[in-house]
Amino acid sequence: MERLFLAISWVIFGEVAHESRRWWYGPSGPGTPTPNIRASGSETMGQMGERVLEADCASCAGLCCVAPAFAKSSDFAIDKAPNTPCPNLGGDFRCTIHERLVDDGFCGCVVFDCFGAGQRITQETFGGLSWREKPEMLGILPIMRQLHELMWLLTEALRLDAAERVRPKLRDALAQIDHLAGGTPAELRALDVGALRSRVNPLLQKASHLARAGTKRADYRGAQLIGRRMRGADLRGASFRGALLIGADLRGADLRRADFTGADLRGADLRGADLTDVLFLTASQLRAAITDP
Ligand code: SF4
Ligand code: SF4
Repeated sequence: MERLFLAISWVIFGEVAHESRRWWYGPSGPGTPTPNIRASGSETMGQMGERVLEADCASCAGLCCVAPAFAKSSDFAIDKAPNTPCPNLGGDFRCTIHERLVDDGFCGCVVFDCFGAGQRITQETFGGLSWREKPEMLGILPIMRQLHELMWLLTEALRLDAAERVRPKLRDALAQIDHLAGGTPAELRALDVGALRSRVNPLLQKASHLARAGTKRADYRGAQLIGRRMRGADLRGASFRGALLIGADLRGADLRRADFTGADLRGADLRGADLTDVLFLTASQLRAAITDP
């Protein structure tokens, strides 16, 4: 269980898109395969065109390998001060140990997801420069990551057929956040992301509620379910929003249409679970869990 708690230094990346609990993230880092998540243009993004909400490390200056602090643990093999390059970061901003991150004790690096914030800061906010020339870009990462995470959640909500009646509001919120994310560094620094999240969360919860209609909608929001045995349980439409599911046994559970917004799934065993139409489950959450090969 030690491994599950010692990497909290990543809270530098800020609060999650729900209530007040905080995410734990490690950096996937340059060269890490990106999750298959993409805001797919016209249908979900209205008039904005396509906005990529997945990491494109090749277009980034390795921001997540520099900005955060690491606490030496079973997730990170070293201590690292904030705004200091990880010693494994190459001069080309690629991870030099990418192929053996887990073996070398950097499990935390495997599960980070910046939702495309890194390359947006590098390419758009700072016009292709790096933190070497513009160290202030490092402080923008937690802000932009939260904005992009919200955009990812809104994009997911827009995909839900049952949430059709809140779609205009979802689309407006998405456009607004995307616009804000395109601001100057000073404008980004001045943003009250918490207030934005407070405005968006009810919309997301409404969409989730609609999408889970017809199920028991069991409420595990914010629940402490660390190590909980739920093997084979009927959890259709359950809300695990912000729940701590660290090390939980969910093998063979029926999780269809369950809402996993911000749930901490580190070490949760999802083998054999039915994840059909599951809501707001990110690729990084899945990487943190135990899943079928
Ligand atoms: S080991 Fe260092 S360089 Fe590699 S992904 Fe992790 S933080 Fe980045
Ligand atoms: S900040 Fe994002 S895009 Fe940049 S290296 Fe990290 S994961 Fe990749």
